[in-house]
Amino acid sequence: MVTRLYSHPIYLEHLTPPGHPERPDRLRAIERVLEDEKFAALDRVKAPEGDPATILYAHPKSFVDKVRSAIPEEGIRSVDADTSVSPKSWQAALTAIGAANAAVDDVFSGRADNVFVASRPPGHHAEKTTAMGFCLFNNAAIAARHAQKAHGAERVAIVDWDVHHGNGTQDIFWDDPSVLYCSTHQMPLYPGTGALSETGAGNIVNAPLAPRSGSDVFRDAFLSRVLPALDDFAPDLIIISAGFDAHHRDPLAEINLTEDDFDWATGQLMESADRHARGRVVSLLEGGYDLQGLAFSVAAHVGRMMKG
Ligand SMILES: [Zn+2]
Repeated sequence: MVTRLYSHPIYLEHLTPPGHPERPDRLRAIERVLEDEKFAALDRVKAPEGDPATILYAHPKSFVDKVRSAIPEEGIRSVDADTSVSPKSWQAALTAIGAANAAVDDVFSGRADNVFVASRPPGHHAEKTTAMGFCLFNNAAIAARHAQKAHGAERVAIVDWDVHHGNGTQDIFWDDPSVLYCSTHQMPLYPGTGALSETGAGNIVNAPLAPRSGSDVFRDAFLSRVLPALDDFAPDLIIISAGFDAHHRDPLAEINLTEDDFDWATGQLMESADRHARGRVVSLLEGGYDLQGLAFSVAAHVGRMMKG
């Protein structure tokens, strides 16, 4: 089993205002926990810069130009109520996309069995033409399209267990039955989308969780909605929008998962990928704002990926 880990120092240089939850320390906490010797076998690779043309897989050029032109020469500039850019944000965003696409290349070429990408900024709130919710470009959506264009994948599934609904990913694939989007998320909560009734072209499977739900409700949503949808769809690749803000310690939501739940969910998705997708799993970091909850959850997630 080869589990690859992509990271890059540029991800620390995408800066947000003081006190903002989506901060560089998140990646430092992940880096520290993965220094433990039980992760010695991780195949650690410095993320490559992405090809800007691949952003167009999910966003129109006018939007890409708008984000790029918003990048300041110094300081921090808001592009949305809670989303901002700093001088290195373009390079960080492009390198997050580069790692996501490279991870797809790795699992299709067999260089890795599965891959975790520890990047910022996150992506799942970025709609076709809107940067929002700490996200500039939709890394998971771009990677899914990359799998289709570069590797002939016919069906790609994106499973999003971030505690917030991935409105951006849903928006991008709303009428595209070649991509299945499954999300567990707290409802009501930002951004307000993600109702059961939002089904797109039959390719959107939302599993909203009531505030204060815990392991049982989350696992039931996986077993009753997410995993059967994957079995029906039979994807060639599973991409995980891996946010860890459903952890009970997280300050932005009220779902009470533990790291054991992320271990379990990872195992379930790996088994599904073994059944349908030759084991191909690419996991991209989304949210997770309590540093200890985030670090322990990533350790459980990556540890499970390495066990195979
Ligand atoms: Zn989130």
